[in-house]
Amino acid sequence: MKAAVLALQGAFAEQEHMLGEMGVEYFEIRRKQDLGQEFDALILPGGESTVMGKLMRELGLMEPIREKIKNGLPVLGTCAGLILLAGELSDGEAPHLATLPVTVKRNAYGRQLGSFRTEAAFGKTGEIPMVFIRAPYIEKTGEGVEVLAKVDGHIVAVRYKNQIGVSFHPELAGVRSVYEMLFAKAG
Ligand code: GLN
Repeated sequence: MKAAVLALQGAFAEQEHMLGEMGVEYFEIRRKQDLGQEFDALILPGGESTVMGKLMRELGLMEPIREKIKNGLPVLGTCAGLILLAGELSDGEAPHLATLPVTVKRNAYGRQLGSFRTEAAFGKTGEIPMVFIRAPYIEKTGEGVEVLAKVDGHIVAVRYKNQIGVSFHPELAGVRSVYEMLFAKAG
């Protein structure tokens, strides 16, 4: 099992720390050549989706990563990572990878009061701690999308085939179940 972490901007070091804690081997994707390595799962971290999307385009990473996801590569997008995966953004902005059939609202909890911690059920795991930082939520899900978690009536975690998208930061609360779900897909 080898994971790749998109390391262009944002909370990638926190993801790497979590993988280290779990004893999972990983490497960073910073440029196109890095995609030449073999890997079993991809993590798109939190951060600023607009900046990450721009860098992915400029570095020629958007197309090859989109293809890998479409071909079944297990991927976890957290917070801004979820925004990168979303097929549609509700404020009319252009989507990025657009592999996950959901509509995502960015900064859905407001910019200032948008950071909080709570607990909610996640899939079959029961309650897990969830850390939200200027987080998005999912307004609409397309066909075949499984809802894994809701907070205050809003969808904050989904799964669709090989893709998992969460609004919160599982790495900041040390929530292993989210990663275990990803790695189960990686075989
Ligand atoms: N607000 C950020 C965005 O729109 C996401 C915040 C995060 O990843 N913690 O990209």
